Amino acid sequence: MSAIPQNLPLRNDLIGEEPYGAPQLDVPVCLNVNENPYQPDPAVCEAIARRVRDIAPTLNRYPDREHIELRQAFSDYLARESNTRLDVDELWGANGSNEIMLQLFQAFGGPGRTALGADPTYSMYPEYARDTFTGWQLAHRKADFTLDIEALIEQIHAVGPSMVLLTSPNNPTGTPLPMDEIERVLEVCETAEVAGANAGVHPIVVIDEAYVEFRKSGTESAVSLIKAHPNLAVSRTMSKAFAFAGARVGYLAASKGIIDCVRIVRMPYHLSAVTQAAALAAFEHTDEQLSRVEHLRETREATAAWLETQTYKGEPLDVAESGSNFLLFGGHFDKRDEIFDELLKRGVLIRVVGPAGWLRVCMGTDEEMARFREALTQVLRIVE
Ligand code: PMP
Repeated sequence: MSAIPQNLPLRNDLIGEEPYGAPQLDVPVCLNVNENPYQPDPAVCEAIARRVRDIAPTLNRYPDREHIELRQAFSDYLARESNTRLDVDELWGANGSNEIMLQLFQAFGGPGRTALGADPTYSMYPEYARDTFTGWQLAHRKADFTLDIEALIEQIHAVGPSMVLLTSPNNPTGTPLPMDEIERVLEVCETAEVAGANAGVHPIVVIDEAYVEFRKSGTESAVSLIKAHPNLAVSRTMSKAFAFAGARVGYLAASKGIIDCVRIVRMPYHLSAVTQAAALAAFEHTDEQLSRVEHLRETREATAAWLETQTYKGEPLDVAESGSNFLLFGGHFDKRDEIFDELLKRGVLIRVVGPAGWLRVCMGTDEEMARFREALTQVLRIVE
């Protein structure tokens, strides 16, 4: 518990709250926050250093508030990665997709408004809601963690949310979100009414694609739906597949109308010149940055197959289908905290997250995964 002095006028609804975040521990094998385990190669590090050196003499000035060059780089990247060419004014960057999400809540949430998600999902969403005084409600997923689309649609009509927030693939379950379901939700939201708003005001649909580059090959990104759906906002990040979590760069792809709403709430000069330079350098080396994605996908498939051969208390482990760089596994771990602790004792940090009985592990290097398998094999034998 952090000791916040009682005489400080902390907002009433924040009293007793803790800062959110996974433990940052110094252990040999960190498989807990869904990073890309591969470091940028030396050519990328050199390009970053060069770009940052080039802009260093301009740091007495504020950066380009509109980060036009970077938005062009997002456009070029999506044209290649998602086969969709968007204009600069259909793109927007921020300090991680966490900030993109917060900006969406600031612009489209607020007192009297509700955002609707699908449980279980990313644990930061209720925090953005709390911080922007937005109501937060959850539709329930099916037992296999896919959306219960009919129940979700019913809830959209019953609640009248201003934002419907779906994660594709989902975190912490990894569940892919099929495009036809996204299209169904978009169509419903094009006519559904937002409670408390003027007639004719309809919800936006936010698709959080933080892990989308890890999707199964042959499937699409929701970015391809943007030109046809002005109520769609797709949040993306350089933190995961792009191996750039430390730089804090996320971006939003959406209609110009949605981007213009977000621009109202952004802090002036929110994206530093250093961040912009580093991101541009990384985009110069997109091939290198993405070079391990295919291997991480293979690691996921191999790890899922291996986990399915393991047993706990005589029962095979369940593994949720994943289109991401992590796996939710177990399903019937009645002592998941103990399993987590025993793995940690063996130098392997994973995550206690998601519904009771499950644990989440993110894909590491081959060596890290070998250590994970070895540690879990031991732990499953001793935790009873
Ligand atoms: N969305 C999801 C679903 C995530 O899991 C994360 C990171 N854990 C984020 C958004 C935020 O990532 P970042 O701010 O690094 O882009």
